[in-house]
Amino acid sequence: MPHFSATLDGVKPSPTVALTGLVAALKAQGREIISLGAGEPDFPTPQHICEAGKNAIDSGRTRYTAVDGIAELKEAVAAKFARDNDLAYGPEQIIVGTGGKQVLFNALMATLNPGDEVIIPAPYWVSYPDMVRLAGGTPSIVETRVEDGFRISPPQLDAAITSRTKWLIFNAPSNPTGAGYSPDQLKALTDVLERHPNVWILSDDIYEHIAFPGYTFSTPAQVAPALFDRTLTVNGVSKAYAMTGWRIGYAGGPVDLISAMRTIQSQSTTNPSSVSQWAAVEALNGPQDFLASAVTTFLRRRDLVVAGLNAADGVSCPVPDGAFYVYPSIAGCTGKTTAGGTVIETDEDFCSALLEETGVATVFGAAFGVSPNFRISYAASDELLTKAMDRIQDFCAKLA
Ligand code: PMP
Ligand code: GLU
Repeated sequence: MPHFSATLDGVKPSPTVALTGLVAALKAQGREIISLGAGEPDFPTPQHICEAGKNAIDSGRTRYTAVDGIAELKEAVAAKFARDNDLAYGPEQIIVGTGGKQVLFNALMATLNPGDEVIIPAPYWVSYPDMVRLAGGTPSIVETRVEDGFRISPPQLDAAITSRTKWLIFNAPSNPTGAGYSPDQLKALTDVLERHPNVWILSDDIYEHIAFPGYTFSTPAQVAPALFDRTLTVNGVSKAYAMTGWRIGYAGGPVDLISAMRTIQSQSTTNPSSVSQWAAVEALNGPQDFLASAVTTFLRRRDLVVAGLNAADGVSCPVPDGAFYVYPSIAGCTGKTTAGGTVIETDEDFCSALLEETGVATVFGAAFGVSPNFRISYAASDELLTKAMDRIQDFCAKLA
């Protein structure tokens, strides 16, 4: 065995990614599993986007590209930021990476030194704290309250900022809660940030397009132009266009930061897949009607799942503004024993027993930093969701 790097101290594998592997293994054993674990759209990538990928292969666009992405894709990204977010990024202010995940990782690697703090509102996407640790920084977790709709309040943000704070990671609509911020709510936060000129803002807008009626998406650099020069606006095609496997994410930000991120990428993965980049050009420049139809589908499923969970004994589920997750509390289930004889002490016990006894795969709340809760990704067919709700209600009804 080698001696492993101290960089890995306190870092664990992604629980959401691990669950995908576990579900595959259980299915291979012949078990019938309803997978509501991994967060990815269940639709196929739209045909015109696939065609663009195939054309890239057939026309020999299969070589290394510029590290930060082909010019055509950077132009498409710039046009997207202008069209959707009123943000004017030039080509030097844009980088394309292997998923939003790599873009986030590059940004943290490029900026964090030991002792640097990164404010992460909880519940958070599982990867943020561990990415910060891998990059040598210290996560500073701020727990939001269900009473506040899982939104960080301006006083909470203000109180969390120290002289060591380097970044705020902001993610709305949120994974795992689906919480969004109205432009006014966001402005109240950016007002705080304007008073702290040393804090940078990393806005993860990956769920931008999955926004339900009554909620209007906005992004920090848009509502607070004064923050433009210290904001990295991250986005990608994975969730919006059902392209998780293509691995294309991108960001707009200050030239120096983008250049530092490019250096890291040039020494790690070089460029994102050339074929995927051409598909992403079509995703961003081509017809956008897929987005509205996906929202309609997700809205119907959201309502099905929220109602189904609130009908389960001991479960309480707020209504999300966007994304395709719900994050119900199971406070009414802890301390009880399942039909199979498991005592539920934690949300991990709940999710393990639910998987074992009913075949419904979900992610336990501790992975996202707020308990006792669990996350359901409702990117699954109405039929499967209905079946899953029946099983969860039955599981909860039998708790004693
Ligand atoms: N941010 C959030 C909040 C996510 O849920 C995901 C999904 N894995 C990502 C970023 C990264 O997605 P991708 O790497 O597929 O672009
Ligand atoms: N973002 C998705 C999730 O949270 C995909 C898996 C991952 O990268 O975490 O489930």
